Amino acid sequence: MDLMIEKAQPDDLREKPDENNLGFGRYFTDHMFTMQYQEGQGWHEPVISRYHPFTVDPAAMVLHYGQAIFEGLKAYRGKDNRVYLFRPTANLARMNVSAARMCMPQIDVNQVLNALQELIRLDQEWVPKAKGATLYIRPTMVATEAGLGVRAAKQFMFFIILSPVGAYYPEGFNPVKIYVTDTYVRAVPGGVGHVKTAGNYAASIMAAVEAKKQGFTQVLWLDAVERKFIEEVGTMNIFFLINDDLITPPLGGSILAGVTRDSVLTMARAWGIKAVERRISIEEVFAANQQGTLREIFGTGTAAVISPVGSLHYQGRECLINEGRTGALAQRLFDELQAIQYGWKDDPYGWTMAI
Ligand SMILES: *Cc1c(COP(=O)(O)O)cnc(C)c1O
Repeated sequence: MDLMIEKAQPDDLREKPDENNLGFGRYFTDHMFTMQYQEGQGWHEPVISRYHPFTVDPAAMVLHYGQAIFEGLKAYRGKDNRVYLFRPTANLARMNVSAARMCMPQIDVNQVLNALQELIRLDQEWVPKAKGATLYIRPTMVATEAGLGVRAAKQFMFFIILSPVGAYYPEGFNPVKIYVTDTYVRAVPGGVGHVKTAGNYAASIMAAVEAKKQGFTQVLWLDAVERKFIEEVGTMNIFFLINDDLITPPLGGSILAGVTRDSVLTMARAWGIKAVERRISIEEVFAANQQGTLREIFGTGTAAVISPVGSLHYQGRECLINEGRTGALAQRLFDELQAIQYGWKDDPYGWTMAI
């Protein structure tokens, strides 16, 4: 399968936004990658072309039954002006896990990675130089077959779009206020909680809206069965430092297997920290706080990398963590991970890939 490259014409080129006011996912680059899938034929027509809207059949199955999966990763501009990807094969492999669960076709990780590198090379001027800014990468797959029967589609489209995004913390690390919901749940055992599929996010919006109305930044999800055990926070995995143990919920099928989560576990273990994946209840967290053994809580995800949690609110009770300040471990993990991602320091883990 030969990759076609149709460069945007001078008239199609977009104006570059102000790098110091990018926000998240508001601007898109000049080019995109697309390829098509048909059962029996496989993936075909891999093309890099100008960023453009699609024509979609109103009966396209994704619009009705939501066979849609996506990924999120970033490209970073180093001090040497080179562009680095962070663990891209981990994201593309996870997309295949998502595809399998949603009865969608597998992608060839090497072929897609190659197309992504070509795309970024073509749009390399769009990789921001401003401190903390990055190029967010959004690979997506949707069912394009027209038809209203509920079944697995036979025709799909895969695409990658690129968006320059600003520093997540323009004023530095800001611990967030979290609302623990016991009204809504995100995912159930046997469901699709471990899959980056569109419906999970649609289902989560109401809890987020209600939390925002009450002045909270994010929602912390409890398990759907007992509503006791902690799952994740917003679209991040979550970690607790209690005494000297770093604790994160296990990958039981209802939480997302975050690449950042895995990177944090790997780094913490390399530093000699006891990092454990085990179930942890909301009551255990409140009890540890009472006893003074709860030292830090932070979320992990590609967008923010590390997001310190300042307080948890649950059933009218408040748990203030580390006096609402960023903990030393969260800070160390953020600094170290960021230095590796931007290529500022040696990467002992083999995570970065220079383009
Ligand atoms: C994407 C995502 C994460 C974080 O995954 P990373 O690979 O670290 O970005 C965590 N939880 C949910 C629900 C997500 O969608």
